[in-house]
Amino acid sequence: MRIALSAGHNVYIGSNFDCGAVGNGKREADITKATVKNLISLLEAQGHKVKDVTPYNQRFSHKKSHHLKRCREADSFGADLYLDVHINAGGGTGVETWIYSNGSSSKKHAEKICNNVSKHIGIRNRGMKVNPNYWSLKHCKAPAIIIEGCFIDNANDIKKLTPKKYAEAIAVSFGEIKESKPKSQPNTNKLYRVQTGAFSVRKNADDLLKKLKAKGYDAIVVKQGNLYKVQTGAFDKKENANKLVMQLKKDGFEAIVI
Ligand SMILES: [Zn+2]
Repeated sequence: MRIALSAGHNVYIGSNFDCGAVGNGKREADITKATVKNLISLLEAQGHKVKDVTPYNQRFSHKKSHHLKRCREADSFGADLYLDVHINAGGGTGVETWIYSNGSSSKKHAEKICNNVSKHIGIRNRGMKVNPNYWSLKHCKAPAIIIEGCFIDNANDIKKLTPKKYAEAIAVSFGEIKESKPKSQPNTNKLYRVQTGAFSVRKNADDLLKKLKAKGYDAIVVKQGNLYKVQTGAFDKKENANKLVMQLKKDGFEAIVI
C-alpha cells in the first residue's frame, strides 16, 4: 500500500508553535512526531510505500491551511490511505479512530487500528467514529483516518502509550512487525561470520549463493551499507568458523572470517 502519514500539530500558527494537547508533562506534538518516525520504518519493513506529509515547523496563518497542505501532499503521493496521528485530551480514557463516512474504504483499517491500539497498549477501546467535517478527512481524496491514541491528560493512558508501542500497534494492522536490528550492540556475544564474497551488485551475490548451495552450503546474502555480503555461517567459536573457511577453500571458494 501507499500510506501517507501525518504527525498531528508540529507547525506554527502565526508565531505560536502548535504543540497540540498537553498533560502529564508531555506535549502531543512530540508524541505524534516520534510515533510517525517509528511508523515509517515499521511500515517500510512490511513493504509499504510511506510518505510523511507533516510540514514540520512551517508557518501557517490559519489552522486549516496546514491540514489542506497535508491532504494535498497525501493526494499527490497517490496515497491509498492517509493516517493522521494524534493524542486526545479532555478527561477521557482510551483510543478512538475517526473516518469520513461508513462507506469509506478506510473503515476496515480504522476498526483494526482501534482494536490493535487498545489491545497492544492495554487501554479502553472507544471505537471507530464517523465525522465528515474534520479537515483531515474532508479535504483528502485518499481514504483517511484520524487516530487518537489515548488521552494525554490521563496519567494511566499516557504512562502506557509510548511512541514505539503506539507505532507498533498501528503498524501491526498492516502486516507483521519485523524486529529492527539492534544498533551497534556491545560485543558481548560476538559471532564469527564466514564471508565468501562482498558485491556492490546484488546479482553477483545471488550467483555466488547459487554456487554455494549447489555444493551443499547453507548460505545467505546480507545487505550491509552498499554491499551484498554472502555469508555461509556464523559461529560462537572462532575455530569452527576457521574450519568452515578451510572447507570452503578446498571447494574453490574465497572465504574469510569477519
Ligand atoms: Zn491533535
